[in-house]
Amino acid sequence: MLQQYVEMRDAVEAELPNSILLFQCGDFYETFGEDAERTARLLGIALTHKSSKDFSTPMAGVPLRALDSNVERLLAAGVRVAVADQMEEPGGGLVERKVTQLLTPGTVTEERHLTADENYLGAVATGDGYALALLDVSTGEFRCAAFHTRTALYDELARHRAREVLLAPELAGNAALLADFQARFPVMLSPANFDEEGARQELHTVLGEVPGSLGSAALVRACGAVLGYARLTQQGRLEMVRRVVRFEPGAHMRLPDAAVRALEVFVPQSPQGVTLMDVLAQTRTAGGRRRLRAWLRAPLLDELSIRARLDAVELLTRAPDLRGAVRALLYRAHDLERLAARVATRRASPREVASLARTLDLLPDAVGLLGEQDGLLAGIRARLGALPDVVTLIRAALVDDPPIRAGEGGLIRDGFHAELDGLRSEALGHRAWLAELETSERARTGIQSLKVGFNNVFGYYLEVSGPNLGKVPADYRQIATLKDRARFTRSDLREREREIARLEAAAGRLELEVFTDLRDGLSTHAEALAEAAGALAELDVLAALAELAVECGWVRPQTVAGAARLVQARHPVVERATGGRFVPNDAELGPHRHILLLTGPNMAGKSTYLRTVALCALLHQVGSFVPADHAELPVYDAIHTRIGASDDLAGGRSTFMVEMSELAAILHGVTHRSLVILDEVGRGTSTLDGLAIAQAALEHLHAAGAHALFATHYFELTRLEADHPGLVNLHVAAEEDESSGLTFYHQVIPGAARQSYGVEVARLAGLPAPVTTRAAALLTSLNAQGDDRKLLRELAALDLGRLTPLGALEVLHRWQAEARGGAEGGRQKADG
Ligand code: ADP
Repeated sequence: MLQQYVEMRDAVEAELPNSILLFQCGDFYETFGEDAERTARLLGIALTHKSSKDFSTPMAGVPLRALDSNVERLLAAGVRVAVADQMEEPGGGLVERKVTQLLTPGTVTEERHLTADENYLGAVATGDGYALALLDVSTGEFRCAAFHTRTALYDELARHRAREVLLAPELAGNAALLADFQARFPVMLSPANFDEEGARQELHTVLGEVPGSLGSAALVRACGAVLGYARLTQQGRLEMVRRVVRFEPGAHMRLPDAAVRALEVFVPQSPQGVTLMDVLAQTRTAGGRRRLRAWLRAPLLDELSIRARLDAVELLTRAPDLRGAVRALLYRAHDLERLAARVATRRASPREVASLARTLDLLPDAVGLLGEQDGLLAGIRARLGALPDVVTLIRAALVDDPPIRAGEGGLIRDGFHAELDGLRSEALGHRAWLAELETSERARTGIQSLKVGFNNVFGYYLEVSGPNLGKVPADYRQIATLKDRARFTRSDLREREREIARLEAAAGRLELEVFTDLRDGLSTHAEALAEAAGALAELDVLAALAELAVECGWVRPQTVAGAARLVQARHPVVERATGGRFVPNDAELGPHRHILLLTGPNMAGKSTYLRTVALCALLHQVGSFVPADHAELPVYDAIHTRIGASDDLAGGRSTFMVEMSELAAILHGVTHRSLVILDEVGRGTSTLDGLAIAQAALEHLHAAGAHALFATHYFELTRLEADHPGLVNLHVAAEEDESSGLTFYHQVIPGAARQSYGVEVARLAGLPAPVTTRAAALLTSLNAQGDDRKLLRELAALDLGRLTPLGALEVLHRWQAEARGGAEGGRQKADG
């Protein structure tokens, strides 16, 4: 057996290096040798030893029934798993075993290993440009794109959050590129074949052709690698993949990964934070949720498409009955996309086929509900209605509540298959005879206490108690003697039993055959099923966006050219967090005011305002209503953000370096149709440097004609308004008052702020009172001096929210030293 294990493990190792082979031995999946040590460590299970007279090897195993949870833990730990099952009942010799599953994070298809979100396997190749292929094996979605720059490619990959990535040798073999990649994407990297000829063959095998749309060699290689690896892990079953869609990254709004993160579209910046997706996720189906995420990843550029979505959403907001009915119906739908993929690969279990039928049952109602609508909803109706009637077929064949697995019998309905009915009724006849046996034998023998029993050793038997043993008829054969009774059998009893077993086994085989036929029949409709699934997902998103718009009082944005006007706009996430206390603000951007320079104290609401505008722009191009009382928005070609100081420690770059390279990417990519959000640019360096860089960046954006919102500490920048016609100063209202300290009104108003309130914010943040008092005194004196601008600027630039008390003292110490080294009079003034 160990030899069989070693051979199988070597074979698996050759295909999937570093995986763990779980090897069925009766009721356990075992691992041996080094793998056992690794498995025991990863799963925290006991390491035992398998010993015979000539050897001993470490062994670690998990019970059969705990397979799923342990596989999940191994996958989460970044380990690929192969499962070998016993293919026959253990008898005399070595049991035949076969690898039945190869499980990797990016290719699992079993519902229990998946979350409701998409699960992408990615492949990256370079050559004549950069290529990315993305495959979701659980739904069959297969997409690819070519890029001019690696940054653009990485942005796209980050947006899709692939769980496993294949890297071509030109990347994987370059230590620097590989390290950079791993720092950006902490996902499982798996080996795959990127050879171009092999890739062409792979595409032929799976899709029947090498689609002309692929064009470049890099794309062919990335697509081929993904397919080859997926085919390996799916053991040849890739029928759910029907086509590859080449998408143009330029066909959608550019939304760099930095912007997706800064706007907290999918992932919150603090662990308990709420994301835009959390607010939007009013969808009712897993497919709808995935579709919504896809829409958010790729906002539209085409005005007509935006309008089509908005029309559908608006219609659903105005028709509460229709919306309610649609959403009630969606509530009952299963994950049709994944079911369609399972059906396509003929892997669907009886229970999944039943779920499919239940979901498909809803479609005629959906078609009926959408009866009179036009636009997107009419298209959805057409796709939902195009499916041939497979429900009747499933219903006729399958019982309502079939078992999970096909081998257990009891899944085909009576009356569906004549031969099966015959076998069943014959078996039932024998069972009826058995059920009658006790009564008839009591009558024949006169033994009133005679019993018919059953156990696993003897099967059916007749049991007679001690005093009656004399009355036992001659055709009884004794098979067991107990203390006060004996058990008997009879030759015809044995025959009946054998017959029942034979009939039931035959019926079971036949059921499996009938079920397989049914499943094969369904797989021919895979394409139509996938279409219907897509339509249902889209309907779900539109209805969810409408629901949200009504619930939260959002408005339909008007698409206009070159200007943005938001009245009483709200940040959809912060609004939730602050309850009814959120202060809405207006925003206006146009040819004569396309750079808004926002000043005001820390914590006043500058970032929130910036993000509010960006989120409204994003939602508009997703086709959603926006959180405002009135909204006019242009179609932006990109939303760029540079927000906060994020440290790329893993990448080994300083905060300032990260900030500058993000700024560089923005300034290179920006056009007059872009929206740019810059929050505190230049803060990672000395005051003068920072100020200079911030001003130069502003001037660049001003010249580019982009719409930009710029929040800053540098009051010097507010002077730019005078000679930059497109630049307008705004500030966030706050009031300082002797008794109550600083009050924030979160209100954005015209003009520049008067001062920075840094010390007040420091007090709010809990800096020790002596430190803030001293800082306030210093500030006053410094202000009075007027000539010591350097210190003042440095103080203005201090991030008091992050400064430790000790850090503050160090700064003060340094200032004092400088002051003492300078004018003596200045020191006395400050002391005073
Ligand atoms: P800044 O960027 O000026 O430091 P933020 O935008 O980060 O300030 O806002 C600080 C906090 O103030 C937010 O976390 C939020 O709770 C609150 N806030 C911001 N804007 C508003 C608003 N318009 N209405 C109500 N509360 C707000």
